[in-house]
Amino acid sequence: MTQHYDLIAIGGGSGGLSVAERAARYGKKCAVIEKGPLGGTCVNVGCVPKKVMWLGASIAHTLEHAAGYGYSLGEVSFDWSALKQARDEYVHGINDWYHTYLADSQIDEIVGSARFVDAHTVEVDGRRYSAEHIVIAPGGVPTLPQTEGAELGITSDGFFALQSLPKRVAVVGSGYIAVELAGMLNALGADVTMLLRREHLLRNFDAMLRENLMEEMLGDGIDILARTQVKRVVRQDGQCLSIECENGQRLEGFDVLIWAIGRRPLSEELDLGAAGVESDAQGYIPTDKFQQTNVKGIYAIGDVTGRAQLTPVAIAAGRRLSDRLFGGMAERYLPYENIPTVVFSHPPIGTVGVTESEARETHGEAVKVYQTRFTAMYDVFTERKQKTAMKLVTVGAQERVVGCHIIGPGADEMLQGFAVAIRMGATKQDFDDTVAIHPTSGEELVTMR
Ligand code: FAD
Ligand code: NDP
Repeated sequence: MTQHYDLIAIGGGSGGLSVAERAARYGKKCAVIEKGPLGGTCVNVGCVPKKVMWLGASIAHTLEHAAGYGYSLGEVSFDWSALKQARDEYVHGINDWYHTYLADSQIDEIVGSARFVDAHTVEVDGRRYSAEHIVIAPGGVPTLPQTEGAELGITSDGFFALQSLPKRVAVVGSGYIAVELAGMLNALGADVTMLLRREHLLRNFDAMLRENLMEEMLGDGIDILARTQVKRVVRQDGQCLSIECENGQRLEGFDVLIWAIGRRPLSEELDLGAAGVESDAQGYIPTDKFQQTNVKGIYAIGDVTGRAQLTPVAIAAGRRLSDRLFGGMAERYLPYENIPTVVFSHPPIGTVGVTESEARETHGEAVKVYQTRFTAMYDVFTERKQKTAMKLVTVGAQERVVGCHIIGPGADEMLQGFAVAIRMGATKQDFDDTVAIHPTSGEELVTMR
């Protein structure tokens, strides 16, 4: 017999859990189908374990800086496996919490892999479930290139499984994951080489951010090879990896190679055709602004839509969808503009709104930019003086702030409040009229000339 629900979420990650949780609060009968651990990418192989490692790596930086503040430390050692064990326990605690939470919210948890039978029915391990509303939220997985020997490398998933700190690591890629993993591994003591197929890190970010990040990462001792495309990976002497590049360069002696070249959506195993749901050439599922696919009653949220692949985006899209379907908020949806984001590099980046070049393309002469670059007080006393840099992009006579870009210690925590202001349409004058908090780095954003 087919069990019937008001709403079924395919995927128990950030998006699927959120849409079901909000629908259940409106008294709807919901199920979440999950084939792996609850919490999805973010909890198990994404934001959560990543942030633990970033915090650990930040302590390594602090220890380096300690001498400038009068400390003389004895020999310091770092135990990767102890941190991994503590991190795994923390993640398992979150998985367990979700099981309890779903049960308490009277949401059915269906374990297994879902595929469509028709527009209102899915099948999991031979059992059928139907619903008025089906939300597709299967997220994605890291991609491997077609390169010969690619399987000798690992991805971010493999990074989280590493049992010990590798000595020498090659990181291929230039996006969020590449810079985050390279920064952490370097801080924790690995010898890191990054291979960029083009010129820049974080190509789509504001130029000020990527230029400063490049400088800081090089200053931290990371070897960054631009315009270096991998041609082949081979295992030398049954042990280390060597990398042959398209430009003829040969790099040898790596313990680990990490591919961080993007992710692909997990849509192919859903049998979307059985429900008539369209996807694009890469498997992403297009939706309208209400997360509605081309089939009535079927929605897509989170990474599978290919837009702003961030946990709070998947959560917000899911919650707003349930508000609209069941909460009487007919016009509720998630606008995808002004989404703040942080790259947990060393130092971190916080950015919201448009880049300077995007603003100039759209608004031309009406753009005015304010920027600053300075040594934060913390770094006055450290041996290596990292720079903090900030930029405000404004438009029009009112100088409405349309972009805020920060790189430097504290950027990760600094941005959230500024994102509220920018979403509300703050102008440069509003920034200037806000009393500064002294002495902080954040005060520079309200005192820029
Ligand atoms: P997911 O969280 O991936 O959940 C999808 C779930 O669906 C998975 O559990 C999967 O097993 C399940 N599933 C798939 N197919 C099926 C099926 N057929 N049947 C049943 N279940 C299925 N974002 C941030 O905001 N901040 C960060 O700091 C951050 N760091 C990240 C670090 C890394 C290394 C990575 C990889 C990602 C990071 N992200 C971060 C991105 C964030 O993890 C994703 O945007 C977010 O998890 C997307 O949520 P989702 O619900 O779309 O998919
Ligand atoms: P990204 O899309 O951020 O970056 C991948 C980059 O790798 C591309 O932009 C491309 O840069 C480069 N690349 C692509 N193919 C190749 C190739 N064959 N060889 C060499 N380089 C290649 O993907 P990530 O995997 O880093 O992260 C996926 C998403 O997860 C992010 O976009 C983000 O949304 C999310 N995420 C968020 C985090 C956060 O919020 N802090 C942290 C981690 C992930 P180019 O074209 O310049 O060469």
